[in-house]
Amino acid sequence: MSLNEIYDPNNIFAKIIRGDMPCVKVFEDGSYLAFMDIFPQTEGHCLVIPKTEGATNLLTAPASMLSGLIETTRKVAAAVVAALEPDGVRIAQFNGSLAGQTVFHLHMHILPVYEGRSIAPHAGGSPASAEALELLADKIRRAM
Ligand code: AMP
Repeated sequence: MSLNEIYDPNNIFAKIIRGDMPCVKVFEDGSYLAFMDIFPQTEGHCLVIPKTEGATNLLTAPASMLSGLIETTRKVAAAVVAALEPDGVRIAQFNGSLAGQTVFHLHMHILPVYEGRSIAPHAGGSPASAEALELLADKIRRAM
């Protein structure tokens, strides 16, 4: 999908927001939702999304959405760091398929990075089990 495609209300994250698809939730308020990435690149990889539908990426998002999105990302990243004690944390965001984007609802990646442990390829590999993700999410929620 190019940078300027129309938002598809049936994308996976829109379904998660509507409750039509499950997710392992880490944080939610009236405007934002954070949940575990089902294909984690590292242990504790999670995503933060605006609950408003319509923005495929950062460039199509209204400015009013962005400060809350960044603040929520910072808050969840701080809890990931407190809970899992990584050596670094990568915050990532992709715009357009050529840039690596695979789900076309604006989202931020929070990727804890651990010394001596590899980072799996983006959006690949096999899905983590719901049980493993729930254990991690529980630790992160308790650190919030
Ligand atoms: P991007 O490629 O930047 O659009 O990121 C999309 C992310 O969503 C990837 O890291 C996927 O592993 C992740 N993902 C895809 N489907 C799901 C799902 N059902 N639940 C949680 N994460 C998902």
